[in-house]
Amino acid sequence: MQTTFALRIIFLLLATLSLSVSFAQYRYEFVAGKLGTVCRLVFYAKDSLTAQYIQAKAFSTIDTLNEVLSDYNENSEIRRLCDSAGTGKMVVVSKDLYEIIAQSLVYSQLSKGAFDITVGNYVQLWRRAKRQGILPTPAQLAKAKATTGYQKIKLYPAKQAVELLAKGMRLDVGAVGKGFIADKVLALLRQLGVNSALVDLGGDIALGEAPPNEKGWQIEIAYTAHSRTRKSQKIVLSNCAIATSGDTFQYISIGGQRYSHIIHPKTGLGLTEKLQVTVVAQSGSTADAFASAISVLGKKKGFALAQRLETKKYLLGTQIIYYTENQTFIKETKGIKELSYACDKGCL
Ligand code: ADP
Ligand code: MG
Repeated sequence: MQTTFALRIIFLLLATLSLSVSFAQYRYEFVAGKLGTVCRLVFYAKDSLTAQYIQAKAFSTIDTLNEVLSDYNENSEIRRLCDSAGTGKMVVVSKDLYEIIAQSLVYSQLSKGAFDITVGNYVQLWRRAKRQGILPTPAQLAKAKATTGYQKIKLYPAKQAVELLAKGMRLDVGAVGKGFIADKVLALLRQLGVNSALVDLGGDIALGEAPPNEKGWQIEIAYTAHSRTRKSQKIVLSNCAIATSGDTFQYISIGGQRYSHIIHPKTGLGLTEKLQVTVVAQSGSTADAFASAISVLGKKKGFALAQRLETKKYLLGTQIIYYTENQTFIKETKGIKELSYACDKGCL
C-alpha cells in the first residue's frame, strides 16, 4: 500500500515534470528592415524550428500587406485604386484594403478630419519640398486641396468596393498602415498558437499576452530631441497597442521653420508645433491613427479629444509632450497615468 502510494507520487511528479517540459517556452527575437523602418518580433515558442517557421510567415505577411498599401510602389493595390479616382467607377478591392480604408474613415469622423488618408497629394508636395528646400506654392496647395477630404471616399460594403469621387485623388495610409499591419501580424501569430508576442514596426507596437511569468511587456517611451529634462519613461502593457508620433526623425526645415511630416489637412502644410504624442489603444491601427490625429489637433484640442475617447473606452491612454524654448511639458490622461503607475510599483 505504502509503495503504491509512493509510486503514485513519483508518477504524479514525473507527469507534472513532463507537462512543464512540453510547455516550456523560450524567447525568440527577430529583426528585419521593412516598411522603411526596423521591424522587430519578440515571441515565445517551444523551439527554434517552430520560431523560424513563425517568423518567416510573419515577415512574409508584412511584405504582402506592403504590396497592398505602399505609397512608394506604383503597382501597389492602393496606387492602382487611386488611378480610378474621378472616373465614376467603383473598384472591388481586397479585404485588407477595404478594411483599412473603412477603419480610416471612422478615425476621420472621430477626429473631425484631423486624420485623413486623402492627404496623399499634400504628402507628395511635402516630399518635393524636402527635396527642393522650398515650400509648395499657393497654386500647388489649392490643386491638392481639391483632391482632399475623406468625404470624397465612397464605400460599397456589400461589394467590398471603393469609389474615389475626385479626379487626381491620392490616398496615403502612412499614418495608420504600420499599426494596421502590426495588428495583422499579431493575429497571425495567435492563429499559429503564439500568444505571448510583441510586434514592433518602427515604434508602432501591437502586444499579445504578457511574457511567461511577467505582468506585461515593458515599453519605453523615449523623449524626442527637443527634450532637455527627462529622457524616457516605461510602462507595462499586454493585449493592447501603443504608438508614438512626433517630428524627431521626419521633418523639413525651411526659412528657420520646422515642418513635421504630419500634415494639417486644412492648410496642407506640415505641423509646426513641437509635439510628441503617444497613444495606447486596443488595436495598433487605432493607436497609430490617433497618435497622428492628436498631433494635428495640437496640445489643447488633441488632449480634449484623447480624454473624450478615453471616457468612451475607445482609447486607453494618451501622453502629449510639448516643448517651449527651454522647457518640456507633459500632459497625461488618467489612463496613461494608471499604466505608468502600475509600472513604477514594481515592474522596472
Ligand atoms: P510615423 O510614420 O513616423 O509613425 P505617423 O504615423 O504620424 O508617423 O504618419 C505620418 C505619415 O502619415 C506621413 O508621412 C503621411 O504619409 C501621412 N499623413 C500625414 N498627415 C496626415 C494626416 N493628417 N492624416 C492622415 N495621414 C497623414
Ligand atoms: Mg500614426
